[in-house]
Amino acid sequence: MVILRLLLSLSTFFGIVLWTVIAEQRLSLYYMSPIIIIALVGIALILLVIRLFKKDVDAFPDSWEAILSSHVHYYRDLSPENQLKFKSRMMLFLSEVSIEGIEIEIEDLDKVLIAASAIIPVFGFSEWHYNNLDYILLYPEYFGTDYEYIEDQSKTRIAGMVGTGHMSNRMILSRHALRLGFSDQEDRYNTAIHEFVHLIDMLDGEADGIPTIIMEHQYTIPWLDLIHKKIDEIYEGQSDIRPYGATNQTEFLSVVSEYFFERPEMLKETHPELYKILSKSFKQNIARPN
Ligand SMILES: [Zn+2]
Repeated sequence: MVILRLLLSLSTFFGIVLWTVIAEQRLSLYYMSPIIIIALVGIALILLVIRLFKKDVDAFPDSWEAILSSHVHYYRDLSPENQLKFKSRMMLFLSEVSIEGIEIEIEDLDKVLIAASAIIPVFGFSEWHYNNLDYILLYPEYFGTDYEYIEDQSKTRIAGMVGTGHMSNRMILSRHALRLGFSDQEDRYNTAIHEFVHLIDMLDGEADGIPTIIMEHQYTIPWLDLIHKKIDEIYEGQSDIRPYGATNQTEFLSVVSEYFFERPEMLKETHPELYKILSKSFKQNIARPN
């Protein structure tokens, strides 16, 4: 993306130089022609490189429509106009991020669910690029802390994670967990949405549960206070927020975001302050009136 922006700026620069030279007509046509030719060749070369770098965005395949509408409630609830937007945003996402199956073939259902999970949290923004994501590795099952398969139920089994260090710009997901997240969309549990919210949180350089890229400054202090109050309630056994949310601020943000996108009405009623800040930050007021 940075290279494209740089090339576009260069191309604009050459264009302006050319235009200035012609407009001012300081040079006779005889002297101008080599300048014009060099500038035109420069612009043509830059445009060619931009085309080569830019991946084409495919059209949304007709066969995916049934998969999307049968598996993703969020999509079904959108207006026809927004459904069109949602599909084109999914395809843009898929043109920017590669999905690789680890010992499995990626199926259409996987692509649809991953792209939908990526777009749901950022659909309130007219444009969004996950600049901190290049690859998604899809494992068939849960995996361990060294990315190995885990069958032993007593060991730590990871459903999804976003990589750091040598694994940065990668997301790892268990296909089992990805599909489970969309099989019951009222249980406030969705692994893929959880991981994409981690990426949004990390875009400001810190995974701290305060997504300053989307959260207005005025909400950060109230948000921190709320996190601590709500985590205390979890510890006291007086909360319907999944206990994993009490792990730390980062996990709290991802866990309540799952709740927000799967049960917005319930969150608004049970935790109105959480709903308000999340709704303002994600720019989505998705709770339907009773
Ligand atoms: Zn997490």
